[in-house]
Amino acid sequence: MGKPTGFLDYPREPIHDRPPEERVRDWKEMHLPIAEQTLREQGGRCMDCGVPFCHTGKLIGGMASGCPVHNFIPEWNDLVWRGNWKEAWIRLAKTNNFPEFTGRVCPAPCEGSCTVAIDLPAVNIKMIEEAIADRAFAEGWVVPNPPAVRTGKRVAIVGSGPAGLAAAAQINRAGHEVVVFERDDRVGGLLMYGIPNMKLDKKMVERRVQLLADEGIKFVTGVEVGKDLPAEKLLADYDAAVLCGGATHARELPVDGRSLAGIHPAMEFLLKNTKSLLDSDFQGPPPISAKGKHVIVIGGGDTGTDCVGTAIRQGARSLTQLEILPRPPEVRAPDNPWPQWPKTYRLDYGQDEAKALWGKDPRVYSVMTKRFIGDEQRNVRELLYVSVEWVKAPDGRFGPREITGTEKVIPADLVLLAMGFLGPEKPLLQQLGVKLDERGNVWTDGTKMTSVPGVFAAGDMSRGQSLVVWAIREGRIAAQSVDRYLSYGETVLPP
Ligand SMILES: Cc1cc2nc3c(=O)[nH]c(=O)nc-3n(C[C@H](O)[C@H](O)[C@H](O)COP(=O)(O)OP(=O)(O)OC[C@H]3O[C@@H](n4cnc5c(N)ncnc54)[C@H](O)[C@@H]3O)c2cc1C
Ligand code: SF4
Repeated sequence: MGKPTGFLDYPREPIHDRPPEERVRDWKEMHLPIAEQTLREQGGRCMDCGVPFCHTGKLIGGMASGCPVHNFIPEWNDLVWRGNWKEAWIRLAKTNNFPEFTGRVCPAPCEGSCTVAIDLPAVNIKMIEEAIADRAFAEGWVVPNPPAVRTGKRVAIVGSGPAGLAAAAQINRAGHEVVVFERDDRVGGLLMYGIPNMKLDKKMVERRVQLLADEGIKFVTGVEVGKDLPAEKLLADYDAAVLCGGATHARELPVDGRSLAGIHPAMEFLLKNTKSLLDSDFQGPPPISAKGKHVIVIGGGDTGTDCVGTAIRQGARSLTQLEILPRPPEVRAPDNPWPQWPKTYRLDYGQDEAKALWGKDPRVYSVMTKRFIGDEQRNVRELLYVSVEWVKAPDGRFGPREITGTEKVIPADLVLLAMGFLGPEKPLLQQLGVKLDERGNVWTDGTKMTSVPGVFAAGDMSRGQSLVVWAIREGRIAAQSVDRYLSYGETVLPP
């Protein structure tokens, strides 16, 4: 432990982002570098407590508590406090294949279960993780490390999001030949085409993919397994396969007026925007544009926030975000104690930007969309919503009930549907004949093997829509199981 009184001597450093008014004028990352002395002091706030929860990664109350990849957080906090950055990087890289991603996009369940957070603001774990990873790249410590020996076994990975990339990295490390199939034109899954550039610069994704390619992993883009490559050929050509296709089946909103022009799934909007940025810096065919429009985002999660940030940068005239759930409390509710993930009110980057432009958080809570209203050309022009209250049903579950007389009509020229995802797409899964669980995700045993021997699944495809850090964790578990499957029950890989 570096500084026994660090958490008393140094307050938590606020996140260093570019001011909202400035950053909404471009698509560059919003983070600013932080001075080394500040980072060391922040590392010194870690108490190295006797029973740390920050690295447990357990589900408590259905939410992650602690780090799902079990990062050695107290260890690298101490190393940063001492200025031993290289050792901190070595420790970090042992558990997390892609800390340069999680250091930027993870909601940091570790911080919710930090012991300091019982009484004071948590240790800045995520900020320190990002700084260690960035320093490692800047110093040239991150280099391709191909395996010394090849086993001659071949493994196919379907999908190149964080689960597929983590599984590929680990399986390759064990010496097996790895081919990653991706149906999009670029590798990265939601790291590339979901999370926008201002939150995660796509050059970071490309840099990591290049490192993996230099280690010997083969990437095949523009190939949809189950369509361009039949499932039986996949099974015949490879000794094992890992399904990492994500949970891409978006929830719909089947209300009156849904077929009007100007209503789009969030992913269509986000993907086209990032593609246009990367292909031509917006010089090519225009993506779906929010410019000069009254934009409504339906859904208050990460996807909704990314739609808000993107629509603002495109020049939206006004922005409203509708959320069916009630506004979370400012502080933990009695039934949400530490070390659970704190379900409290937060202003994420997109809402912060909307507030800077229009003076208030764009979210309207406890409301449900009833219908869309169009003009004569069948373009959406207005949206009607109603307020709801959350009531307990006889089975004990809470559900929304409309409050009569609360209907409201608001202008709407562009509506983005960001109400979550229902699970994986089914055609490939049906071809393979893998069993699904009761939620429609791919069923796996504790080793991530599906009901078809030699076929494994990881990430959102088996977990349901989740987090990048869980996808990395699952990719690692699946990789270890693949290695055992191909190596007569033995493995050289860590969990
Ligand atoms: C807009 C948005 C923002 C998010 N923001 C955050 C965030 O800030 N922080 C966070 O932790 N999490 C965030 N998430 C969640 C996170 O991105 C996912 O949990 C994570 O990416 C899941 O990883 P995955 O590898 O399982 O799947 P994905 O990242 O979804 O990747 C799956 C890949 O498989 C490909 N694929 C599917 N089927 C086939 C097939 N048959 N053949 C070939 N390829 C196929 C898809 O094209 C895709 O590229 C966000 C999600 C969304 C939608
Ligand atoms: S990956 Fe997420 S949970 Fe783990 S240490 Fe980093 S920010 Fe915390």
